[in-house]
Amino acid sequence: MIGQDMPQEAARFDVAISGASYAGLALACALADALASDPGEDFRIAVIDRAAVTSPAPDARAFALSAASRHLLSAIGVWDAVAAEAQPVTAIDITDSALDAGVRPVLLSYDNTTSAGETATHIVPAALLGAALRARAASHASITLLAPATATGFAIDEAGARLQLADGRELRAGLIVAADGRKSALREAAGIKLIGWDYPQTGIVTTVRHGREHGGRAVQHFLPAGPFAILPLTGNRACITWSEDAGEAARILALDDAAFLAEVEKRFGGRLGAVTLEGPRQSWPLAMHLARRYVGERFALVGDAAHGVHPIAGQGLNLGLRDVAALSEVIADSVRLGFDAGDAQALSRYERWRRFDSAVSTAAFDGINRLFASDQPLLRSVREVGLGLVDRAPALKRFFVEEAAGLTGDVPRLLRGERV
Ligand SMILES: Cc1cc2nc3c(=O)[nH]c(=O)nc-3n(C[C@H](O)[C@H](O)[C@H](O)COP(=O)(O)OP(=O)(O)OC[C@H]3O[C@@H](n4cnc5c(N)ncnc54)[C@H](O)[C@@H]3O)c2cc1C
Repeated sequence: MIGQDMPQEAARFDVAISGASYAGLALACALADALASDPGEDFRIAVIDRAAVTSPAPDARAFALSAASRHLLSAIGVWDAVAAEAQPVTAIDITDSALDAGVRPVLLSYDNTTSAGETATHIVPAALLGAALRARAASHASITLLAPATATGFAIDEAGARLQLADGRELRAGLIVAADGRKSALREAAGIKLIGWDYPQTGIVTTVRHGREHGGRAVQHFLPAGPFAILPLTGNRACITWSEDAGEAARILALDDAAFLAEVEKRFGGRLGAVTLEGPRQSWPLAMHLARRYVGERFALVGDAAHGVHPIAGQGLNLGLRDVAALSEVIADSVRLGFDAGDAQALSRYERWRRFDSAVSTAAFDGINRLFASDQPLLRSVREVGLGLVDRAPALKRFFVEEAAGLTGDVPRLLRGERV
């Protein structure tokens, strides 16, 4: 159900999610599958968004999604809708050559297949993933999508939680989930503080077409202002995710198409032949943040509302989908035991499961960005020696591939492709 006209008697839900983007919709679908798909089950989920969900702002990004994320998207019935456009990444080449170097030696190169023989990463156009999640959520009778509607805060009473909307309406729910992104209004309303900082970098994204086949190889080119990533798309196309010094990025983004393309070509190198622009350019301010707590009374954070990482390793949404898998699992287990969706023990299990892992990842990606966004000779030699050593150590490369696939550690059921 999508709509504005929510009857008063319908304003009671088991879970109310603020934010109908990637994390919020994936969580709604996972909960609907787990708790509302059997006949006679009456588990109800509301997802609200301040934006018009049926006509979202275009998203030019393409996401590097891990094997674990792909398992989750398959399990919730979304992967089939994106599979034809999902480009498997066969190998990853890492370089830090200067742009004026005649030859760009690859410092580290590895096969991107896990020990179980699956592709560790696929590149999926963000807009397609968003459309597939919206379509899947709309197909569940137990999910009510309410948009545009802005959540402003919530209150807890003996009957449960009340989610307050800017237009004065309220939704009653056993659990309120903030999936409302980096500047989460509900996280603030819950009084949960953030650790984090802004990077002096802007993320520039565009899609290009190139003359020669990429063979599924992704390239991470570490430049002093930040990494320039070439993410292969289906056909002879690639999505560029390019972190640039914020001032320089403003200049580049203001260029006309020909001059913008010249800046892209300078960094892209010539090995894939002639390059043309295929999509619009978009930009994001880059920051890192981590919420001090992931839960409160009848309240949980998921996705970018809980953590935000540098796009250097393409892991932000993968972490968000790990939250979705863990939270849906603890809620399903708890509801099946007869507790309500906002049970405090289930929520603290979720926090223990997810916060440490996201804290480690957030710190690691921050460190990698600092190590590589430098032309300082000593740091340059340290990373060149380090990457050279990794390049000659098959076991270490295997470790990186398994980590990127998201299948190490205590993996929730959905990330293993199992139902919750
Ligand atoms: C340049 C770039 C490249 C990236 N590449 C990758 C990648 O390759 N792989 C990867 O895994 N991740 C990547 N990421 C990270 C990824 O984009 C984010 O982690 C992901 O978009 C977070 O999704 P989300 O659903 O948590 O939040 P968001 O997508 O930010 O959605 C939040 C939603 O909440 C809604 N909302 C906000 N406030 C309210 C309110 N008060 N009331 C109601 N609704 C509200 C918004 O309208 C929005 O729909 C990248 C990020 C950037 C910037």
